[in-house]
Amino acid sequence: MARRHAGEAKIWAVIKANAYGHGLRRAAKAFAAADGLAIIEFDAAARLRDAGETRPILLLEGFFGPQDIALLAEYALTPVIHNFTQIEILAKISPAAPIDVYLKVNSGMNRLGFTVDSLEAAWQALRSNPCVRSVALMTHFADADGPSGVQGQLDWFGEMIRPLEGNPAVPRSFANSAALLRYPEARGDWVRPGIMLYGCSPFAEQRAADLGLRPAMTLGSEIIAVQQVLPGERVGYGFAYKVEREMTLGIVACGYADGYPRHAPSGTPVLVNGFDSCIVGRVSMDMLCVDLTGIPGAGVGMPVTLWGEGLSADLVAAAAGTVSYELLCALAPRVPVLEVA
Ligand SMILES: *Cc1c(COP(=O)(O)O)cnc(C)c1O
Repeated sequence: MARRHAGEAKIWAVIKANAYGHGLRRAAKAFAAADGLAIIEFDAAARLRDAGETRPILLLEGFFGPQDIALLAEYALTPVIHNFTQIEILAKISPAAPIDVYLKVNSGMNRLGFTVDSLEAAWQALRSNPCVRSVALMTHFADADGPSGVQGQLDWFGEMIRPLEGNPAVPRSFANSAALLRYPEARGDWVRPGIMLYGCSPFAEQRAADLGLRPAMTLGSEIIAVQQVLPGERVGYGFAYKVEREMTLGIVACGYADGYPRHAPSGTPVLVNGFDSCIVGRVSMDMLCVDLTGIPGAGVGMPVTLWGEGLSADLVAAAAGTVSYELLCALAPRVPVLEVA
């Protein structure tokens, strides 16, 4: 899917945060069609190399201190350079072999990167450092999924890099998932999709299925207890839910210690044995409660889908006032993982 949208551009498959909760090695294998892997965590990058990964690995926040320099060469990692502290460290400590770097341009997001005042100095420092084999340029869009779009940042990026001597041949990397799906003109030479690779939509108003995306992760559990409740009774911690009508409730073995958001309110969708239902009352550490009223044959042992196949994490996230990214990344280590081909 990302390949189809990327056209001629090469793909950095973004696998930070344990591949958005999906498991590093699993993701690296699944993204065999990607040209490179983009990550934040040094230890994860090293583990990938140790496991035989040969593609380029981009460190999206670069390196953090002098102690990291040796690892750049040892593991052939491509750091993003976004501040002068990094440039100074690289000038003082030479990696054992020349490295490729990405120079990050702050084109308006004001998170990481060099501004118009400092970009040229950063560029020259890196280009004149004999330990730096190549310098590519990148920027990140703040609102590719929103009303501002990407054009303003793209234009400003173009302005900013014009004075950089010898820049026409330099590869550029712009697009995250939202930009890749919505703005073909904003691809650059290397795109950086993340969330779409895991089957969620980067857009609040557009469903994953309508974009042709299929969820990679399904969080499932089952009913471990059933309660019959009458009007006036209360459910869960804080007695937060007040029963209005006679209901059958199911207790599901899944809670915030598994990564289910505690702030998901009553009414957040779930699937019980494939039927639409919703959660009732407060999510607790190990359990949550769902409405089984009207679900045929509902009882202990019945499967529950918290998100994934049949119920996009996007919908659960919207109900809980967050984004699918946060749900996927929060999947807890204690959750057993079953791989399905
Ligand atoms: C996380 C990240 C991406 C991927 O973003 P998605 O919205 O998941 O596609 C791309 N670029 C950078 C710099 C990132 O930090």
